[in-house]
Amino acid sequence: MEIVTRFAPSPTGLLHLGHGFSAVAGWAVARAAGGRWRLRIEDIDSGRVRPQFAQAINEDLAWLGLVPDGPVMVQSERRPCHLAAFDSLRQRRLLYACTCTRADIARAASAPHTGETIVYPGTCRGHAPPASGAFAWRLDLGAVQQQGVSCRQSWRDLAAGPQTGAADRFGDPVLMRRDGAIAYHLACVLDDAAQGVTLVTRGDDLVEATPVQRLLQQLLGLPQPGYLHHGLLLDASGRRLAKRDHAATLAALRDSGAKGDDVRRQFVRQCAPLLAQAGLAVAESP
Ligand code: GLU
Ligand code: ZN
Repeated sequence: MEIVTRFAPSPTGLLHLGHGFSAVAGWAVARAAGGRWRLRIEDIDSGRVRPQFAQAINEDLAWLGLVPDGPVMVQSERRPCHLAAFDSLRQRRLLYACTCTRADIARAASAPHTGETIVYPGTCRGHAPPASGAFAWRLDLGAVQQQGVSCRQSWRDLAAGPQTGAADRFGDPVLMRRDGAIAYHLACVLDDAAQGVTLVTRGDDLVEATPVQRLLQQLLGLPQPGYLHHGLLLDASGRRLAKRDHAATLAALRDSGAKGDDVRRQFVRQCAPLLAQAGLAVAESP
């Protein structure tokens, strides 16, 4: 089967080095496997998205010498498809309206297992949608399981080996936010399928999304891709680089005079152990 990977950044800020590494990792895997590498701009969180950042993503990738195979998917243009899938789940009575505020959810939540994790306790399950006022739509994982789809999901991660996770770890997931935006999980599985993605490559900070996404793929009858969750790039002191840490951006690196080809080659070298784990050889010499 052909390997199709993807890079799916959100244009909510400039890409930092960790994004660059992730883009190169997916690209290098596709290249080593003789497959394809797709790009998708995940721009449906309208409150946080800025058009200039989508433009910057294109510039940064071009500077790195990464050219996506096939057309770039713009997630906001996919709303009709997202809504059709949402409606089909609603017609199957798998969704319910949740009127809880963030504060309600925090108060009602059972003890979080890690950090600030909030587990939604299903307060609104079975309630009819209110006649007025804002509400979110959640997937009723109780009803889902009654339809024979298990919350317990297992897969073999190409980097991390056999994995098991619970789709209900955070309670019933929101599929449409109270502002009408389709939630990341639903958009992501529909768009991965539409782009023919056979191997989802992304940072292991998103590994907890995978059980919910696999469950949605099953519910919607979508093909199930493989997964490769890579470790995150570390800074000089061994800390994980993240957008919120104000890690160095690719744009700043470019402005400082660095050559995109050199940066890409360095990322490819850093990917080598990952590719070896996945049974692939690095295609680019350093
Ligand atoms: N758009 C997400 C982000 O930038 C990535 C989604 C994914 O790779 O599944 O964090
Ligand atoms: Zn609720």
